Amino acid sequence: MTPAISVVIPVYNEQDGLPLLFDRLYPALDALGRTYEVVFVDDGSADRSVAVLREQFERRPDVTRVVILARNAGQHLAILAAFAHTRGSYVITLDADLQNPPEEIQRLVAAMDQGADFVGTIRVDRQDRMWRRQASRLMNRIREGTTSIRITDQGCMLRGYHRSVVDAVNHCTEVSTYVPALAYTFARHPVEIEVGHAERTVGQSKYSLYSLIRLNFDLMTGFSVAPLQFFSVVGAAIALISLLLVVILLIRRVIVGPEAQGLFTLFAIAFFLIGVTLFGLGVVGEYVGRIYEQVRQRPRYTVAGVLEDESGTARLRHLELPVGLDVTQPARIVQGAPE
Ligand code: UDP
Ligand code: MG
Repeated sequence: MTPAISVVIPVYNEQDGLPLLFDRLYPALDALGRTYEVVFVDDGSADRSVAVLREQFERRPDVTRVVILARNAGQHLAILAAFAHTRGSYVITLDADLQNPPEEIQRLVAAMDQGADFVGTIRVDRQDRMWRRQASRLMNRIREGTTSIRITDQGCMLRGYHRSVVDAVNHCTEVSTYVPALAYTFARHPVEIEVGHAERTVGQSKYSLYSLIRLNFDLMTGFSVAPLQFFSVVGAAIALISLLLVVILLIRRVIVGPEAQGLFTLFAIAFFLIGVTLFGLGVVGEYVGRIYEQVRQRPRYTVAGVLEDESGTARLRHLELPVGLDVTQPARIVQGAPE
């Protein structure tokens, strides 16, 4: 039977927060009065998260599926792994740390009932560190200026996608991606609603400053070539100005004689140009690196096993799949010996 709603939740080292999540999520979904499934994806957790998810699967096997990744693939690829296992007409994504209230799901569903195929959300009164909020504001602004993606609050992962959008996303094979932006490119009727936001109750954010920077580069390079074009334009302008400077200095040399005092100005200009060049090279590197990863065509994630109940009796399929096997049909694969 196909459920009406699939809820996708990425889990990375959330053992302490998961019971709290179950306590609020399932009642909120039961209250919707629709058929649903919850697809958890364990993103290579090193703690007891898999065991906690398995207990929950055994408690509610009818509405719970657990996709277990062999290694940490990152939040966005983990969500894509879960997307491949969803069946609902509406797919809702949610963080596991209860920063997105599960009670808001009904409002996303209502918006989709009215015809939206992409429901974005804006966090009202966002409960995160000051520097995170400021950095997000800056990145939102840069993205608005460089891509055609119109999302007010790109970082909020409580979102709703129609089946048609998820199917389109499932056809994409890019290695580095940003799920809301990717889905947005396939949406025909995107809407945004405001949702509440809570502080993380248990555990810490799984994003370091470094991984946040990586994520934003994924977003920029994945959906825009503006940074590359920006550098060709700026490079040309700077080259012209430098040429002008050389001409002026040459003329000055002939008329006034060589200058010695201006030495440091020249240094400053030279360092500035070196800086610009290095940054420009770095931007090219960001694209080249991603192209390299893409042409290798390695699997983007490996599913170690799936807990699901298709026949009415709970079954456990736990397989160690060799990398590169068709992970969508693990049931046909005998341990370590593919057909
Ligand atoms: N997450 C994940 N893989 C990762 C990092 C995070 O699946 O590599 C999950 C995490 O368990 C949580 C969600 O993504 O459910 C959001 O992570 P977090 O709350 O740490 O991010 P923040 O709220 O600080 O942006
Ligand atoms: Mg969080």
